[in-house]
Amino acid sequence: MNLTIAPSHQAGNLTRGQRRRLRLFELGSRALEARYARLLDEQFGTPRPPAYVCPLCFRVLGREAVLANATSQTTAILTAEDVPPKSLGGRPLVLTCGPCNHSSGRRLDANARAREHVRTLLYGKPAEPRPITLSIENTSVRGSYFVDEQGNHVFRLAAEPAANRVGASSGFTTAVFGGAQPRAFQMRFMDQYHERFYQLSWLRTAYLAWFAVLGYPFILDPALRKVREQIVDPIKALLSGFLSEDSPERPLTDRVLFLVREPSELRSVGIRVGPYTVLLPRPGDLEFYSRVKNLPGKPIAFQADGLAWPYEPTFGQARPSDEA
Ligand SMILES: [Zn+2]
Repeated sequence: MNLTIAPSHQAGNLTRGQRRRLRLFELGSRALEARYARLLDEQFGTPRPPAYVCPLCFRVLGREAVLANATSQTTAILTAEDVPPKSLGGRPLVLTCGPCNHSSGRRLDANARAREHVRTLLYGKPAEPRPITLSIENTSVRGSYFVDEQGNHVFRLAAEPAANRVGASSGFTTAVFGGAQPRAFQMRFMDQYHERFYQLSWLRTAYLAWFAVLGYPFILDPALRKVREQIVDPIKALLSGFLSEDSPERPLTDRVLFLVREPSELRSVGIRVGPYTVLLPRPGDLEFYSRVKNLPGKPIAFQADGLAWPYEPTFGQARPSDEA
């Protein structure tokens, strides 16, 4: 790995996105320097330019990675990560490298978004129409499903012949309502999601939110290694029992970090975003998820101290006084 000195850039020539990434870079790099200067000296020699380490793959990148074109295919880029994902109301909070953001990140987040569309509708909150197919025996029609402002669940058959072949809608309604006996039909959402992938998207949000607060000592702790491996490689089944859901009416804008104190076997750090609660091990706690796995299946109440959701990272450092 080579760190090169980036040419100095006039702030005025930078795009808004570059300025934001540069700011996250400076905060992360300062925090890294404060704790790991000697380690970096040993690896890269002195003098050396400031560096930022991707919190997911530990790739070391210099300031020029922030200024690279975010759409370029190079691995040497640092991208702003919205935590939670932007489509779920998040804002840029930390930087991750291009591959970590594009490959694992986007796929998990697409699953979390699809899941959220379905969940919102089934819970019966007013929601935008989502595409569905309705099927009875051999007849299938496309349509949409939404909940209106009065809380009515509405199925709307799509137009013919644009989305359904001519006669399909009347064939379907005849099949459903034509007989004397009640008939059941199936509804399938076109928003498809993989159960595990949407859960891992929330695990990723928890990991990055706590990284923004506690910085590198947290993610470099051995207790977090498995969490990181699981996020980077969603196909592997490394972890379970990290996500729970309740209070479906709670909006995603309702966010908090917390420290679980009691019961002792659940001591952990966590996040709560809307109905989703994710627990992460505390530093040094290598047995956390095996303990959780052995707990009885029913929901367990715990006592926790809440912390404000981070909208700006501190990475374990006191907030620099020269930053607004
Ligand atoms: Zn990375």
